[in-house]
Amino acid sequence: MGVNVTEIFSSIQGEGLFVGCRQVFLRFFNCNLNCFYCDTRIEEPPSSCCIEKEPGTGEFDYQQNPLEIRELINILKNFSLKTHHSLSLTGGEPLLQVNFLKEFLPELKKNTEIKIFLETNGTLVEELGEILPFLDILAVDFKLPSSLGGKSYLETHRSFLQKSLGKKAFIKIIITHLTQEEELKDCLLIIKDVSPLIPVVFQPVTPVKDKNTAVSPKRIIDLQMKALGILPEVRVIPQVHKILGYL
Ligand code: SF4
Repeated sequence: MGVNVTEIFSSIQGEGLFVGCRQVFLRFFNCNLNCFYCDTRIEEPPSSCCIEKEPGTGEFDYQQNPLEIRELINILKNFSLKTHHSLSLTGGEPLLQVNFLKEFLPELKKNTEIKIFLETNGTLVEELGEILPFLDILAVDFKLPSSLGGKSYLETHRSFLQKSLGKKAFIKIIITHLTQEEELKDCLLIIKDVSPLIPVVFQPVTPVKDKNTAVSPKRIIDLQMKALGILPEVRVIPQVHKILGYL
């Protein structure tokens, strides 16, 4: 079985609770959502996978998609996995590739000791259940309706979080100029209901496409203070790799 991979590279984790940790990133094609601020969603399957030749150079080799399990494991082994904190499955939405992942992850675990770090939009509950035993850390985005043209996934996020209980995890919420206090409160109350001690990260949107989407420091600080009245651990962390200009 093969899979379409967009890119593979070694860099620092630029978001959330594990910011600064060295990871190998395995970026999968495709997503089931369409957040207005997205900078990684692509419409067409990539004909080849970009593999960074040397970390930090931005120079790539290219390998024809789809990649087979054995091929992918061999590529990953070239990244000296022992010196990395974990392998980040990212996207797009990695859980769309669950049929591949449920064969690939056990094989990878047999061949390496690398921890598996899933970056997910927290909407594909059944798919999560299929690979949960192979995951070590979950970075779960909770999407606010204002990021998705009004569509709400908050109850789906609740189920996703319930399924993740027992795993090391944190939740990330992107704060944009459209974020409403009420939807954010609804989201935080769901988290409080299911897993009150889980760390939450507010990530101010990086205004890549439109500078008008930026959020003022005062707004973020106010929202954090209100959130801390509901949950004990709410941090504000921007996209550090974007600030530094890393992949
Ligand atoms: S869930 Fe992530 S990859 Fe998908 S559209 Fe939203 S920001 Fe983009």
